[in-house]
Amino acid sequence: MGYSSLCRSIVPAASDNYTHGRLGYKVCKITPHHMSGVLTGEQCARLFQNSSRDASANYCIGNDGGIVGNVDENNRAWTSSSRTNDCQAITIEVSNSSTGGNWPISDAAWNALINLCVDICRRYGFSLVYDGTPNGSLTRHNMFSNTDCPGPYLQSKLPELANIVNSRLGSGYTPAPIPAPSTGHKVGDVVSINGVYTASNSTKKLKPAKTSGTITRIISGALNPYLLDNGNLGWVNNGCITGGGSSASSSGGSSLDAVAQAVIAGNYGNGDDRKRRLQAAGYDYNAVQQRVNQILGGGRVSSTPSYNLDDVARRVIRGDFGNGEERKRRLQAAGYDYNAVQKRVNQML
Ligand SMILES: [Zn+2]
Repeated sequence: MGYSSLCRSIVPAASDNYTHGRLGYKVCKITPHHMSGVLTGEQCARLFQNSSRDASANYCIGNDGGIVGNVDENNRAWTSSSRTNDCQAITIEVSNSSTGGNWPISDAAWNALINLCVDICRRYGFSLVYDGTPNGSLTRHNMFSNTDCPGPYLQSKLPELANIVNSRLGSGYTPAPIPAPSTGHKVGDVVSINGVYTASNSTKKLKPAKTSGTITRIISGALNPYLLDNGNLGWVNNGCITGGGSSASSSGGSSLDAVAQAVIAGNYGNGDDRKRRLQAAGYDYNAVQQRVNQILGGGRVSSTPSYNLDDVARRVIRGDFGNGEERKRRLQAAGYDYNAVQKRVNQML
């Protein structure tokens, strides 16, 4: 749909800083971010003209209230660390009026944000639902990633934003229902794998016998977010796998973690009895038992790095893990080798 007519200027992001198209998703959400700085819309948008930034936004609103287009609404900007969210969302970076503390924004930026949201809702036919979960049509970066964005001030204003925008839309306005995500996979899904899949930067052939794998880990927003078979098959993206709905996830809707916790709680007995009962309930015994072992083993997936170091380093550079000791603590809590990740970050920078 191009850009909003409210734009003061268009400063397009580098073409390798966003995804062309929206992978079949319809626009039905808005995700406001804060810039963690005091900038004009143009200054923020220019940052996303740097290819190595690996980030962008559909719009950047400056401290002066100027609205600047950065990624055409037809395309998915890389803003919220979530493919599913950003494929459905118009993302908006909003300048702060001062740095630190509650990370406030100016009245000019606030009013511009309201006007832009009203314009987007009118054109796409939805209203703002803020329920504090990713299911609403007004979502936050920190729902998807370990970040402070959109900052305490803007976050506290989101219910008010939804109320003001919806009242501007008027009583004659009938919003379309928010469509449920139509793609995406979850941990425990057994998926079919295309004959060739892309892992990190190289294209590899599968082991001949392998036509399916189990998703054992997901990093949303990563280039290749799905880890298969604890790294034995590597990291892949959505285009490389089809299906999903393993026996574990299709029966009763329990996630692998929930079933594993039930096993640990003793609900499925032990040994062969456990195996028989899990299988009778429709679960993939090996996948469940593997998850049980991971949980009981302190959450370590394996002794060798089974994640894509470049993806993690990019997330560190993007600020997802904070700085200094906090970064170390968060990386280690997430199961990453801090020294290896930090080394890669330093190389990239
Ligand atoms: Zn953000």
